Amino acid sequence: MASLRCRRDPCGVICLVLTYFSVFYADYVVVQYVLIPTFSDSMWCTLHGSVFNLILLLLLACHSKAVFSDPGMVPLPDTAIDFSDLRSQSSRMNERGCEGWTVCNRCETYRPPRAHHCRVCQRCIRRMDHHCPWINNCVGELNQKYFIQFLFYTGMASLYSLVLVVSAWVWRIRTEGDGDAEKEGEESPSKHLIVAHYIILLVESVLFGVFVMVIFYDQLISIITDETPIEQMRNRLMIKDRGSSSTSGSSSSSSQLPHHAAHTRKPKLALLREVFGRGSVFCWLLPLHSSPPSVGGISYAALPDYDV
Ligand SMILES: [Zn+2]
Ligand SMILES: [Zn+2]
Repeated sequence: MASLRCRRDPCGVICLVLTYFSVFYADYVVVQYVLIPTFSDSMWCTLHGSVFNLILLLLLACHSKAVFSDPGMVPLPDTAIDFSDLRSQSSRMNERGCEGWTVCNRCETYRPPRAHHCRVCQRCIRRMDHHCPWINNCVGELNQKYFIQFLFYTGMASLYSLVLVVSAWVWRIRTEGDGDAEKEGEESPSKHLIVAHYIILLVESVLFGVFVMVIFYDQLISIITDETPIEQMRNRLMIKDRGSSSTSGSSSSSSQLPHHAAHTRKPKLALLREVFGRGSVFCWLLPLHSSPPSVGGISYAALPDYDV
């Protein structure tokens, strides 16, 4: 199975372990060293603890959906396809409404438009965005929603823990300044240990927070512009090629551009709905399965039969 092969990627496994460790460490420090000592005698302890853990729960739910969901693997044919007469095959496919389909030499199969081969997964993925080691899976047409939700909740958790740690630290400095030694308690852990945990969590929150926000922004831009990073690079190369070849001849300008031009005419909301589903914006934040709407043009959700 290609999905199992993908999970054996050492870099992906390390990143998965690091993700789970970071989440549980953040929860441990927030509860043990931030909330309990700071808000022990008020409702804020329960409130902040519940909200923070709810965010982490949603983060882990979205993460596991992104890890274990099929990103949109192009199925392999049951029998070997004869590629010897590729031209007549592709013209036959165009007649059947399969325009833009290409051949993957590695998978030895036909693939729909916008599908690309992933070297780690060793399979073609529909509307492949990139292979992400943090989910040890490809980000493609069917799991991009969960990946973006994971980024969103990681950003929220980072920001929340940042605010909680800074508040707890300020509170600690103030109480120490007032000479309120009773609050320290004889069973409380040493001051140095607490400060060490605070600093580690602050660094973790800033690093992960900035990192996921940058990727989150890139993901939204790629959806709104209807162009995956792979397509962006390919289009840039094509424009460069056309620029260099324009001196010799400029007849094949529009036919050289891929199907991308047709996608960019779609409204931004329709493009977002293709990824997040038809439900309300509130549902976009939940890791629930939703079938993408079949808007005009080529629908990738329903693959044509592979009886070529
Ligand atoms: Zn392939
Ligand atoms: Zn992959």
